[in-house]
Amino acid sequence: KRNVLVIGAGGVAHVVAHKCAQNNKLLGDINIASRTVGKCEAIIDSIKEKGNLQSPGVLRAHQLDAMDIEATKALIRATKSQIVINVGSPFLNMSVLEACIGTGAAYLDTAIHEDPSKVCETPPWYANYEWKRSQACKEAGVTAVLGVGFDPGVVNAYARFAYDNYFDQVDSIDIIDINAGSHGRYFATNFDPEINFREFTSTVWSWENSQWKANKMFEHGKEWDMPVTGKSMAYLTGHDELHSLSRFLDVPNIRFWMGFGEHYINVFNVLKNLGLLSEKPVLTARGQEIVPLEVVKAVLPDPASLAAGYTGKTCIGDLLKGTKDGQPKEVMIYNTCDHEECYAEVGSQAISYTAGVPAVAAAILIAKGTWDSKCMVNVEEQDPAPFIALMNNMGLVTRIKDEHGDRLLEPMREMA
Ligand code: NDP
Repeated sequence: KRNVLVIGAGGVAHVVAHKCAQNNKLLGDINIASRTVGKCEAIIDSIKEKGNLQSPGVLRAHQLDAMDIEATKALIRATKSQIVINVGSPFLNMSVLEACIGTGAAYLDTAIHEDPSKVCETPPWYANYEWKRSQACKEAGVTAVLGVGFDPGVVNAYARFAYDNYFDQVDSIDIIDINAGSHGRYFATNFDPEINFREFTSTVWSWENSQWKANKMFEHGKEWDMPVTGKSMAYLTGHDELHSLSRFLDVPNIRFWMGFGEHYINVFNVLKNLGLLSEKPVLTARGQEIVPLEVVKAVLPDPASLAAGYTGKTCIGDLLKGTKDGQPKEVMIYNTCDHEECYAEVGSQAISYTAGVPAVAAAILIAKGTWDSKCMVNVEEQDPAPFIALMNNMGLVTRIKDEHGDRLLEPMREMA
């Protein structure tokens, strides 16, 4: 029994807690801690309501300010947690990691650490924070798996799997993220608007000819024909996975593309050009200081409220191009996920679902010893085969499309 502490009680934490509960024979006690304890209690209620607890066991809610390292260490010890899944805001990463180093618990997260006062960091982003604690993890024998959501996370494993198994040389990896679903609202973000907009207001870094290239948001758009979701426009976007893949795989061109509809771009541009996405306080005529972005966040729908009634599918995949035996070769590895099916199973939309399931798959692999590296790793440093195989049975099915057709990716069979 390893016991798991889930930090955060937002959309992704909701899925993580449900999936841990579905695997509690192996994972043991499930503790959920966040700033607002009521949100943790609501998650526990929904697990019970959906009947998602695999066997009778502990499900407990805790109030925690995870910026407080000592309080986090105390909770890890009190709950005897050996695995901490950090799915709180990305501002918490370094504090939670420190608490794991101090207690010996394994650490997992799904996004790169962010400093709220900095809008754009120098690439590679992992070198600014996480990798600086790599030696400390090694000395303490702490397993830390960085960025193990879908993107970053599963797409890193896809890149590693294709790189190792299908090519002599890879020239490019394009990661494409399309949400062809509809929430039926005028405008909404699928997760925390503050984090979401930060992703689109800063420099868009891409890895071109083995160098970092600075681009602007919506500067480069391309129509991609994806399996299941079909043709969609996607735009070059700055994203976490480039900042580790560029270091661990010898591939000169790595880019991330995110799908946006015209309507989203129009609304986003109006908000941005009016200054409403700014984090800098402004003075109102009545002398009140307000942060425009906080006002926008307050009036937009709560991302968690979008799950009921969300329809359609997501498709996220890696397109690799290169050569094998002197011939040009192209491989697409991808997943499609249905918003309504996710809601029926755990009460969430597909964006949270695709991010939460991989973190729990990684926790299971750590609990079984397969991924218990006792050091800090990015996903592509681990064997991707057991991870992809496990997720095929946990609700996230991987498919592959190449010259042999479009089929389920069964990693062991493909490697044989
Ligand atoms: P939410 O904003 O919905 O949830 C964040 C949670 O963190 C909230 O419950 C919040 O608590 C809690 N929190 C914030 N500060 C603290 C603190 N000081 N102490 C304790 N808890 C705190 O985020 P999401 O669930 O959408 O996303 C979670 C993480 O997953 C983010 O890092 C996000 O970037 C990442 N993500 C990764 C994806 C991937 O594929 N790799 C995809 C989607 C998201 P409260 O509610 O009480 O304020």
